[in-house]
Amino acid sequence: MKWEIFTVALLLSSRVASFQVPFKLSSLFSNSAPQQQQRHYTAAAPDELPIDLLQYKEDIVIRISYANDEKLKKYILGANDISYSKWGRNNRLQTIDLQINADNLIRLLEEFPALQYEMMIDDLPQAIYETYPVDKQQAIAQDVDFHTTTEFFFREYRDLSTIDSWLNLLQATYPDVIKVEEIGQTFEHRKYNVVHFSVPSEDIDHQDKKTLVITGGVHAREWISVSSTLYVIYELIQLYESFPNSKVLTKLDFLFIPVSNPDGYEYTWTTDRLWRKNRQQTPVPNCFGIDIDHSYDYHWTKSSDWACGEEYSGETPFEAFESRIWDNYLNETNAHHVISGYIDLHSYSQEILYPYAYSCNQQPRDEENLLELAYGIARSIRLQSGQSYQVLPACIDKDADLLPDLGSGTSLDFMYHNRAYWAYQLKLRDTGGHGFLLPSKYIVPVGNEIFAAIKYFCSFILSDDR
Ligand SMILES: [Zn+2]
Repeated sequence: MKWEIFTVALLLSSRVASFQVPFKLSSLFSNSAPQQQQRHYTAAAPDELPIDLLQYKEDIVIRISYANDEKLKKYILGANDISYSKWGRNNRLQTIDLQINADNLIRLLEEFPALQYEMMIDDLPQAIYETYPVDKQQAIAQDVDFHTTTEFFFREYRDLSTIDSWLNLLQATYPDVIKVEEIGQTFEHRKYNVVHFSVPSEDIDHQDKKTLVITGGVHAREWISVSSTLYVIYELIQLYESFPNSKVLTKLDFLFIPVSNPDGYEYTWTTDRLWRKNRQQTPVPNCFGIDIDHSYDYHWTKSSDWACGEEYSGETPFEAFESRIWDNYLNETNAHHVISGYIDLHSYSQEILYPYAYSCNQQPRDEENLLELAYGIARSIRLQSGQSYQVLPACIDKDADLLPDLGSGTSLDFMYHNRAYWAYQLKLRDTGGHGFLLPSKYIVPVGNEIFAAIKYFCSFILSDDR
């Protein structure tokens, strides 16, 4: 029994006890108590389970400290023959979070006898189980009240068809300002939807408006980025109802892509909650998916990760259906829009990342101003919810100087270089504890803090003369 081996290894290991914790896990995770008394998944009938949860039962999520150990860091971030999945990392604390099974943890300990680690999630199937909705809200009828439905909608994470029906209801309720446009189809023939939010203005021509682009769900398992994008749309609609002449609405245009990876997102609801990439065929049989955020044609290099790996870039730039659809849309249909701002929402680690991702050697054209806006965003989040978001260049978050392919081909760099004056990637809550499995009770608080960030972004763009 693998778990016994693991438990013995854990008990015998003085390494665990000697972990000179640079942070207190208990205090770090103190606000992360389970949201509700949910049944344990083993007590649920098989047909009540959203997906096969037993696939995760050998795995745990641990936090490894690589403080002052570049060899360990490079080993873990790079390609090696021990199998695990990288979750997040914290550059300030110098830690990396890994999903790993007992056998591979033991192999890692053999490779690095001084390895220090802490448990983040010891019952992974249960943590996954708890992210699926208790109150299923399938197929929202189109004749119901939008606000009542919406209050219910944001209580839980929602699957693709529920999100689509909510967007349809939104469009039907506010036909003058909301347009859901299908701009392409994915590998599995799902609609690729952009939500265009535009309040008609008598003073400004539509095409002269500055546009803010907000995207979520590029990585399938990062559900909080999808719900937050939808929540920002909802808050803007509420602003529109109360103050239809507000400058934010009359002078700016908004493009949202709430689910930037529809195939991957659907897959997290039907098969594997922790899937990251899209779902298209690769040259290796039975290996699916390209990391969309490694697919953009700006300083693209082929990833060292193979086709089955989570950071696979594809064989050529724009091979991912989703990045190509978006590029075509920008070049053709939407060529006249002046894109002023771009915010790509991800999770987790509470970070505001600014260009460039591919290298720390290239200075962004306007670093002082990028920093000013980034710190303004961080401050507006802190004032809203008390949460602190760290500001740093994306290249540091991606460790691009250590392993150059890790930061190449991002949408952040592509949009900043070609399209948007201001561009950021925001990694949302939390800083560990739940990681990608943030409970649904955080949907509204995170939505509110990101809306505060977007409001700040809008007023900054409006006061900027460029
Ligand atoms: Zn991501």
